[in-house]
Amino acid sequence: MARIKDTSVEAVKAATEILPLVEDYVRLRKTGGTYKGLCPFHQERTPSFIVTPARGTFKCFGCGEGGDAIAFVEKLEQVDFVGAIEFLAQRFNIEIEYEEISPEAARKRERGKRLEQLLERATVFYERMLWESDAGAFAREYLAGRGLGEDVCKAFRLGYAPGGPTLGRRALQEGYTQEELLTAGQLEDDDDDASF
Ligand code: ZN
Repeated sequence: MARIKDTSVEAVKAATEILPLVEDYVRLRKTGGTYKGLCPFHQERTPSFIVTPARGTFKCFGCGEGGDAIAFVEKLEQVDFVGAIEFLAQRFNIEIEYEEISPEAARKRERGKRLEQLLERATVFYERMLWESDAGAFAREYLAGRGLGEDVCKAFRLGYAPGGPTLGRRALQEGYTQEELLTAGQLEDDDDDASF
């Protein structure tokens, strides 16, 4: 199996300029430090699509699409991350180097990525439980009582684990395995009904 070398990914990111990239698709007009045009992701008559070259980002205030140059290519060209890097390499004349990796290493990498995603989703779930659920009310009161403001708690991504199998069940439904949940520390051993 071949994958793009990290150094090539970095070189492509460094060479990528969002303004000329977007201008391949959208006519933009300069307004101060940003550029404005008709959004390529939804139909509109008045421009609500903004490109900020200094930050390397785009944002549509009509449909909410936004991100960096890689996200722009992923969405518009319907490619994944690797496809976007290859596309940008061509557009900005960067030679990409590939390296061979063993199927074993590829599997390990893929697994690491899945576990990372799993933890991110769990974090978001706990955050929502803390800030948006009735069950989280006493936890919110507790934090406030300890003098911890909402800003601080959100910065540290505190969450509330309600107990019960909800999150574990949902993760299993989404195709994560028991074993992955165990590895990520999101399910207690020999406890199918563990709180998550
Ligand atoms: Zn839009």
